Amino acid sequence: MPRSYDVVIVGAGPNGLSAAIAFGRAGLSTLVVEASDTPGGGARTKELMFGGMLHDICSTNHPLGVTSPWFRALELDAVGLEWAHSPAALAHVLGDGRVALLHQSLDATAELLGADGPSYRRLMEPFVEEFDTLQRMVLAPLRFPRDPGLMARFGIEALRSLTGLSKSWFDGDEAPALLAGIAAHAMVPLDRLATASFGIILAAAGHAAGWPVARGGSQAITNALLTRLDEVGGEIIVGQRVGSLDELPAARAYVLDVTPRQLLAIAGDRLPARDRDRFAKFRYGPGVFKIDWALNGPVPWRDPRCALAATVHLSGTIDDVAAAEQAVHDGHLAERPFVLFGQPSVCDPSRVPPGMHVAWAYCHVPHGSGVDATQAIEDQVERAAPGFRDVVTARLTTNAHELERYNANYVGGDINGGYADARQLLFRPVPRLDPYATGAPNIFLCSSSTPPGGGVHGMCGYWAAKSVLSKVFDRAAPPLAGELLTSAA
Ligand SMILES: Cc1cc2nc3c(=O)[nH]c(=O)nc-3n(C[C@H](O)[C@H](O)[C@H](O)COP(=O)(O)OP(=O)(O)OC[C@H]3O[C@@H](n4cnc5c(N)ncnc54)[C@H](O)[C@@H]3O)c2cc1C
Repeated sequence: MPRSYDVVIVGAGPNGLSAAIAFGRAGLSTLVVEASDTPGGGARTKELMFGGMLHDICSTNHPLGVTSPWFRALELDAVGLEWAHSPAALAHVLGDGRVALLHQSLDATAELLGADGPSYRRLMEPFVEEFDTLQRMVLAPLRFPRDPGLMARFGIEALRSLTGLSKSWFDGDEAPALLAGIAAHAMVPLDRLATASFGIILAAAGHAAGWPVARGGSQAITNALLTRLDEVGGEIIVGQRVGSLDELPAARAYVLDVTPRQLLAIAGDRLPARDRDRFAKFRYGPGVFKIDWALNGPVPWRDPRCALAATVHLSGTIDDVAAAEQAVHDGHLAERPFVLFGQPSVCDPSRVPPGMHVAWAYCHVPHGSGVDATQAIEDQVERAAPGFRDVVTARLTTNAHELERYNANYVGGDINGGYADARQLLFRPVPRLDPYATGAPNIFLCSSSTPPGGGVHGMCGYWAAKSVLSKVFDRAAPPLAGELLTSAA
């Protein structure tokens, strides 16, 4: 490597690339070094089994990607990113013939929730109407909120457990099941504090902007970010796993799109002992077991409304979801696990030859488990779609170990960059005023182990860049979408 840079970034995931673009836009020279032979981290797409059939290897559904204030500021749609929306954002199969649907329309969703519809509307309406303001407070590190009233209202509900929230708002089954399935993305037992935050924010995002997929696969998000990086002269090297900062060119700042365990391996010798100890206590969550399928026809859903949604949750009532997540927490796979099922080709036929479909599903498994959940997952799918196995042409499975081998950030198969219980949700990765700082003045973290956490939204990268720009370079960060609107108003 020929020269020194202002900033060297380790890891080309959505957060590493987002940070790199922010540095480039602030006029700094930037190099990104990525272990894999393709950039993108959790936003990559590949022909896994057959030519012409595109599978998202990790992320598919993007409620936070489509609303992300940084992605919107980058105008990724102007450089090829196109969002594809299924008619319904999400379907949740209750298991006894009932299906709850999250439509983008709050009215339509509430109407289908029967007697709980008015309560669902009352709960969600303030957060949907003010979603832009809300998400700019929530997709950010802890700080004094720009709208304290809205944040207080959100906090009162969001800091509760999902089970507690459901008991106090609803009498029936559909609304609690719908929110439970969404909250289970946290991979934390649903009776724990703050699990309601996931349910509310992801449901509100669905009402504000849908749960779209990227046309052509999530790789399209990465490709758009790479175009923006190229425009600002950012450089990228792939196929180089960084074992130590000593392997990298000189830089005024190093920004790591990795989790605390890798931070310690790569740069532990440069951190003060006190910080090393704090990062060593960072906790990881359960893992996932994933199946990708190539299908020779549509999924034969028992209830055809499931075909309306690119994402389908398969698990039953709130009690079923809670029991499945508790089992994983207790160290074993539930007989009927909570299954997240993705069928992106229902709204994005560009991924498949005519008549074919791609689908994937994962369930949560104990941290670091090598368990094979193929049968448990496919049994869950068969219950909702009898004859499903008959349309499977090929499948590829990935257990928690293999997931970590694919991307070192998925420690023990944990796809959220660390356990997301109340403590690590609010104070991630460790309690400190600047959560992107590490104790070494020129080394920073920017991955989903930092606020606001998991998902393809680039906001961890943006806020990390803002911290580095201010602390190391005394420069301002480029504005977010909402800030552009504010200054134009
Ligand atoms: C199966 C699965 C499904 C998911 N579904 C969704 C979804 O539908 N929607 C959603 O929003 N999110 C989803 N996610 C989560 C999402 O992918 C992550 O939250 C997101 O990618 C985190 O971005 P990141 O930049 O922090 O880290 P990553 O995307 O993990 O990127 C980190 C990068 O750093 C590289 N790296 C790590 N160590 C080193 C090293 N030592 N040297 C060099 N490079 C290194 C890695 O190779 C990787 O490219 C899913 C994840 C998985 C695994």
